[in-house]
Amino acid sequence: MAHSHYDLPSPWTTGFKGRCPRCGEGRLFSGFLKVAQGCGFCGLRYDFENAGDGAVPFLILIIGAIGVGLGAWVLLAFDTAVWVPILVTVPVVILLTLILMPRAKGLLIALQYVNQASDSGTDSPDT
Ligand SMILES: [Zn+2]
Repeated sequence: MAHSHYDLPSPWTTGFKGRCPRCGEGRLFSGFLKVAQGCGFCGLRYDFENAGDGAVPFLILIIGAIGVGLGAWVLLAFDTAVWVPILVTVPVVILLTLILMPRAKGLLIALQYVNQASDSGTDSPDT
């Protein structure tokens, strides 16, 4: 089965599922946030990947903002003791981190792959 850059699977789908950005079948990660060496299905090597970790501090900022907002909302809406929003917010922040980190990283890697694939198809590769 031949894959041109015109029929790549959506990076949103492959990235969020943690699948290979070329075939959508192989696994992208060998660990929680560890990118595998290559796709076990189509053989694509993930050497091109150098953007994924850029998502991590960005995501920590977003999740931190969500956590602070959630904590402030719980504190104001329910007029509770200060430890209650902390008790609510910490697991939410941890859960969001666990859920979003690999997806955001996978998405960035998939987007990077798709961009590179389409660049090399349209531009002269002399850079
Ligand atoms: Zn693949």
